[in-house]
Amino acid sequence: MVIKALAPTKSALPFDWFSPIHMLKGVGAKIAEKLEKLQIFSMGDLLLHCPFRYENRTQLTPISYLIPEQFAVVQGKIIDVKIVKARKKRCLITIVDKTGALQLLFFHFHAKQQEIWKVDMILRCFGQIKAGTRGLQIVHPEMEIIDKNQPMPSHLTPVYPTVAGLSQFWLRRTIYSLLDQYTERFKGQEDIFANQLSTLRPMLPWIESLNVIHRPLPEVDQEALIQRTHPAFSRLISEELICHHLSLQKIRQQAKARQATSLNVDESLLDAFLKNLPFALTSAQQHVWQDIRRDVALITPMLRLIQGDVGCGKTVVAALAAVAALSAGKQVAIMAPTEILAEQHYHQFNQWFLSLNFRCEFLSSKLKAKAKRNALENITLGLANIVIGTQALFQDDVQFNALGLIIIDEQHRFGVHQRLSLQIKGTTSLNPTCPHQLIMTATPIPRTLAMSHYAHLDISVIDGLPPGRQTITTLTIPQSRRDEIIERMNAVCERGQQVYWVCTLIEESDVLQCQAAEVAAQELQALVSHRVGLVHGRMETSEKESIMQAFYAGEISILVATTVIEVGVNVPNATLMVIENPERLGLAQLHQLRGRVGRGSEQSFCVLLYSAPLSEMAQSRLKIMRETADGFVIAEADLALRGPGEVLGVRQTGALQFKVADLVRDEEIVRAIPSWADKISHLSVPLLERMIQRWGFGGEYGQA
Ligand code: ADP
Ligand code: MG
Repeated sequence: MVIKALAPTKSALPFDWFSPIHMLKGVGAKIAEKLEKLQIFSMGDLLLHCPFRYENRTQLTPISYLIPEQFAVVQGKIIDVKIVKARKKRCLITIVDKTGALQLLFFHFHAKQQEIWKVDMILRCFGQIKAGTRGLQIVHPEMEIIDKNQPMPSHLTPVYPTVAGLSQFWLRRTIYSLLDQYTERFKGQEDIFANQLSTLRPMLPWIESLNVIHRPLPEVDQEALIQRTHPAFSRLISEELICHHLSLQKIRQQAKARQATSLNVDESLLDAFLKNLPFALTSAQQHVWQDIRRDVALITPMLRLIQGDVGCGKTVVAALAAVAALSAGKQVAIMAPTEILAEQHYHQFNQWFLSLNFRCEFLSSKLKAKAKRNALENITLGLANIVIGTQALFQDDVQFNALGLIIIDEQHRFGVHQRLSLQIKGTTSLNPTCPHQLIMTATPIPRTLAMSHYAHLDISVIDGLPPGRQTITTLTIPQSRRDEIIERMNAVCERGQQVYWVCTLIEESDVLQCQAAEVAAQELQALVSHRVGLVHGRMETSEKESIMQAFYAGEISILVATTVIEVGVNVPNATLMVIENPERLGLAQLHQLRGRVGRGSEQSFCVLLYSAPLSEMAQSRLKIMRETADGFVIAEADLALRGPGEVLGVRQTGALQFKVADLVRDEEIVRAIPSWADKISHLSVPLLERMIQRWGFGGEYGQA
């Protein structure tokens, strides 16, 4: 006897927005996996999976009216199905209507399909008409076996983004069926959201919008749908952006509801710190420091983002914030995205604070066990006043004694969750108040991006560079002139200055990138008499550190590196940067890299050593690099060209993907969101929560 394993029961009904997709009839593990690639996890996600174009399949074309090369819907009776053996097997179906005959040709087909197609069946098919040797044909039509009287669709046929193995037919059928149920269930219900905003922007009600998007009538403004400027899309986009905004607001409220220790600056400590600095603060730095000072004096935690172009001097402002925390006897945690940067901060803060009798501790996952144990002990006992490290600071074994301030450098690599977890970690029974938080960005953030992704933070901008900065001359030079560049590099070293030589990513492989850097280092060392050093992501921390130290000390003249040096490294004596294959990097990243030179008083150069030929897109991007040094302009261009994930450096994580909204295309809506959000913020909490969840912002909303 065969006992069948009981499959979990799948219900086609009732539709529930949040039901996982595998609960849907006909969705097994394989299909679920494909849907996940499209970011579709729940039934509701399917309804938000929007077509990118439409086809008009509402009219049948009689076979004798068909015109080669045009797309058409044809309906006819099968009169012949045969397998033709040419070089490869192919299947040929002939259908006829009252006016003529048409051949359907398949190069790929399964045996099963061949059994299904039978003479006398009625087929409705769609495709491009071709003039074949034996008359008109369609190759691989989309087709359906139908009942003779089946009506033609009254609406346009959507074409969805999809992945291999997930057919348009499947998507359409499934989405239509869900949409039918959903519409049936909620039709006639008032759309409170659209009503609230109706005076600000015309929008269709929710249910109607979904129906227009998935099956618009033939007379619809197709262009507006495709461009997503149609009122049906406005409805979805506004809701998505508002919900994202509200979810961040909620995080802010929750964070602000905690109690923090008020940090009052000890004037004599501040004076001593400022006296030690080899420069005076710029007025931009002073302004931002005043913002911070005001924030940390309160008993609600600070949540502030410092924006500023590369080299504007964010670090010293962070140090001032640290002075406030140290004044109050609190600990400071400083987190950097890379080891190299963390080490640099460690040395910098040590230099600033050791003479003031404060102790810095370095923490990284790569520390040897004993050193790590020591560091952890010092942190827990409160012997370490300033703790500097990488993500290792998040780990469970790190217990602070009295954490009062968290500083996150180049924060865009960390998620909202990660940052919050650090803040929560800082709140312990020993130290029940919540630490203040200061975040510093690596590159300027375009306004729309700041508005959408940092709505939970207060923002201060350092809008000027320290005086005396040289402009960096940027050159684009093909690899064929590599020799000249090496000569130039030699000349720079002769003058006692230093050089960065950056090897970029080769296909997304870390290993290959490091290999390329190794090869380049050997090649350069063979050609010049100055000392060449190499750093890349796969080296031991101690090795990296000693190379960086030698570079800081000027013992190494040429530092060959992968993009690990991108963030924050500060060697004012470096005046030449060569970036190999810059076309592989985003503009914001190039700008970051370039910011490593031009930090001293000497004229600096950045050579973008590209591999010809460049695409037009790459040419225009490198042109932007040549023409402007303004990080804000570059960030805007990068956003327009490569999207928000690139600008924020989280492209791979997909963390910034909206389902429908697009920050560049929908800029006008993005700018309006704060005021629109106010208009709906009084709506009932369950309604808002449900809305926020349907866009997938529930995690951030709930966990904060
Ligand atoms: P970023 O904002 O990119 O992190 P840094 O904080 O690394 O920039 O500062 C870049 C360089 O500018 C450092 O060498 C720093 O000492 C110097 N610097 C910062 N503020 C001033 C200032 N007010 N005057 C002169 N030099 C300054
Ligand atoms: Mg920095």
